[in-house]
Amino acid sequence: MPELPEVETIRRQLDEVLRGKVLTDIEVLREKSFSGVPKRILGFEIEEVKRRSKVIQIVFKNIEDSVIIHLKMTGQLIYITGEKRISGGHPSPDWVGELPSKHTRAVWTFKDGSKLFFNDMRVFGWMRVVDKDKYEKEAKSLVPDVIDKEFTREYFFDLLKKTKKPIKLLLLDQDKIGGLGNIYVNDALYDAEIRPDRKADSLNPKESQKLHDSVIKIIKLGIKYGGASASNYVQVTGLGGTYQDYFLVYKKEGQVCKRCGDKIKKMKQGGRGTFYCPGCQK
Ligand SMILES: [Zn+2]
Repeated sequence: MPELPEVETIRRQLDEVLRGKVLTDIEVLREKSFSGVPKRILGFEIEEVKRRSKVIQIVFKNIEDSVIIHLKMTGQLIYITGEKRISGGHPSPDWVGELPSKHTRAVWTFKDGSKLFFNDMRVFGWMRVVDKDKYEKEAKSLVPDVIDKEFTREYFFDLLKKTKKPIKLLLLDQDKIGGLGNIYVNDALYDAEIRPDRKADSLNPKESQKLHDSVIKIIKLGIKYGGASASNYVQVTGLGGTYQDYFLVYKKEGQVCKRCGDKIKKMKQGGRGTFYCPGCQK
């Protein structure tokens, strides 16, 4: 599943190439993946590509309608202009293959002939044309991401105090904190020297502060390296993020902890792999 750094990476790339492009056509190949009236945005110029949590928003000049996109598990956005291609979201052969493919759900065509493909193998993702009210309603339902201004140390400490769940599961809870996925949560807890199975409300203010800082630091590293791509396609094609080269503990069970020399362990929490160092994470 694309995590916040992957979504932010494709947002930045699309923002660069889509600004000023005039949308001339939208072809919807799968009804389930697209809602709203495409006509309302045809002929308009893209002003910018924004993001809140993992929802990408494409904003147009002179109209209040916009398009919001959620990639969910397997969504991809691929922009092609001449020989140049920008691929983001879930990595798969479609990143480099011929498009449209059997996973293509919508195709946008711009006045200059360039195209934006929305692919989604499992069809959980969506693209929606929304008016201002609908967008604001959607945005309000999204909790702050860890890189938003609203995600303050106080906000975080308040959240911790309210739950007895293991800290790792709280960090992954998308109804409470936006944008953290399994990889980054494992690494942030390691960076903060906190055991993933500690009860959230057992963290003292100092630990909470340290973890707050680590979460932001790790997500920013993820964004810097363009996200992580656990897939082979990435190595084959040279596309995609490289955060996997910088994993701290994620998928490192059995290896020696660089901080204390103990062996990294793996356990399961909420069905997901948890990697931690029993030596220095307390
Ligand atoms: Zn250690």
